[in-house]
Amino acid sequence: MKYVIVSGGVISGIGKGVIASSTGLLFKTRGFKVSAIKIDPYMNIDAGTMSPLEHGEVFVLDDGGEVDLDLGNYERYLNVTLTRENNITTGKIYSHVIERERKGDYLGKTVQVVPHITDAIQDWIERVSKIPVDNSGEEPDICIVELGGTVGDIESAPFVEALRQFQFRVGLENFALIHVSLIPVVNGEQKTKPTQVAVRDLRGLGLSADIVACRCTHKLERATTDKISMFCHVGPDQVIVVHDLSSIYHVPLLLDEQGIVQQLSKKLKLESLTVSSSDVERGATLWNDWRHLTGIHDRMFDSVSIALVGKYTHLKDSYISVIKSLEHSALRCHVKLTINWVEASDLEADASETNRVNFHKAWHQVCSADGILIPGGFGSRGTEGMISAAKWARENKVPYLGICLGLQIAVIEYSRNVLGLKGAHSEELSSEPPENPIVVFMPEVSKTHLGGTMRLGLRPTLFQENTEWSKIRKLYGGVDQVHERHRHRYEINPKYVPDLEKAGLSFVGKDDKGERMEIIELKEHPWFVGTQYHPEYLSRVLDPSKPYLGFVAASAGLLDKIIDGSGYISGEN
Ligand code: GLN
Repeated sequence: MKYVIVSGGVISGIGKGVIASSTGLLFKTRGFKVSAIKIDPYMNIDAGTMSPLEHGEVFVLDDGGEVDLDLGNYERYLNVTLTRENNITTGKIYSHVIERERKGDYLGKTVQVVPHITDAIQDWIERVSKIPVDNSGEEPDICIVELGGTVGDIESAPFVEALRQFQFRVGLENFALIHVSLIPVVNGEQKTKPTQVAVRDLRGLGLSADIVACRCTHKLERATTDKISMFCHVGPDQVIVVHDLSSIYHVPLLLDEQGIVQQLSKKLKLESLTVSSSDVERGATLWNDWRHLTGIHDRMFDSVSIALVGKYTHLKDSYISVIKSLEHSALRCHVKLTINWVEASDLEADASETNRVNFHKAWHQVCSADGILIPGGFGSRGTEGMISAAKWARENKVPYLGICLGLQIAVIEYSRNVLGLKGAHSEELSSEPPENPIVVFMPEVSKTHLGGTMRLGLRPTLFQENTEWSKIRKLYGGVDQVHERHRHRYEINPKYVPDLEKAGLSFVGKDDKGERMEIIELKEHPWFVGTQYHPEYLSRVLDPSKPYLGFVAASAGLLDKIIDGSGYISGEN
């Protein structure tokens, strides 16, 4: 097993995840099997209880793990299925060690950060890196390990020390490190000092960089590369620049041009690994497809605008998988994507009094959009605004996609305005018990423990009888069932379903017991679909999520072509 560590210096949030995923992708294009681990040095056991506004989206895996959004990057770039164990947190490591201490596994010993915590980290990485992540069922060849935060943080110290020891545990020829740093430009001059200091810090902790990946607004000047090479103890070929690009899908190409694979291969002696000819062929096809798609990206002229009506719109990372799914779908439809960000509470009647400018701006964004999307969310803020947006989409035949909360919102709106049910609401969203509880708490969910207790992970949805007409079903290829990932506590109250069906709202997909409403759709509408699950977690660059693809295609007026299966609607054909 070969390990590629990706660490960060200077500041975090400069695209370490994309560099890690892109490097993994490049290894895949050479036929290697690649897995990935993300280390998050915080005390939370997982990301499930963290605010999306502070930390970005909570990503959900097949096994129901609620993890850091970088795992989403890995799954999308590497087309793999990861487990909750692929996200290591300080909380997980400590609780594992403390549990063992209570069992008496360290009997007689003082349990310490070094060696017990650092050993637990190394054991964890070694064990998890070997878990098969694709349908070959085989052990991966290479594992990318991304260390969150920046080297030198108090939080990450035990992990840095563990990695220092790890290079000797696994052997130096099986261990390479990419240090991602920032080159600020001050008065037009590319400054290398922060990178020099960051690499010096790293070396002081016993780790040296095999690649210094420099984030910069522009390409590096020769003198900058030479300076970094001289002061950071690396050859000029080991200094790689990742400058700002029109699309992050170009990052793998940029890294490839600069020979990152050759550099890492030299260190890791990759020629010693055997790769089957079919894997080499598969890798080459993947690379071709990737280049083709990114090429299309630069040649798109028609556009589609989507109003994303949510409550975490100030931090775009809160919706990263949603954005990616829209991007994947827009690429497939060969249209340029514009997202109109709409803070849902700005659409509410209150805002028309207190904040008229935002109110009118927000409604302009909604009314001028080609499609309206209401993503997942928790809590009542902004939900009346979302209900109004769903009403607008339904009445004006504007394509609508409701994800999880977005499905619940659409059903509440339909109950209020079509069925005429007064006080139709969700138990989650109203302060009083609702007169007509359309959305109710699921009986099996814990009321006392919030961590990891929702209805989570991959579950089947069965298309119901007489739903052959369903556009979403056609998009899925007319299958009988689909498997998608979930994350919710509330559900549509089955008591109201017969009346809603009679009034024209179709529940085209339900769970395997027929109790949980999974997909809603309006037959007489260009595209009005809601899913209780989150299809965005399974979207891939080269294989867009079907509900998103249908939605974007409908918004761009291309749904029939996509349903016909004409595949790429590229400028070339
Ligand atoms: N808050 C809603 C629920 O728990 C929706 C959750 C979501 O959108 N992920 O059911």
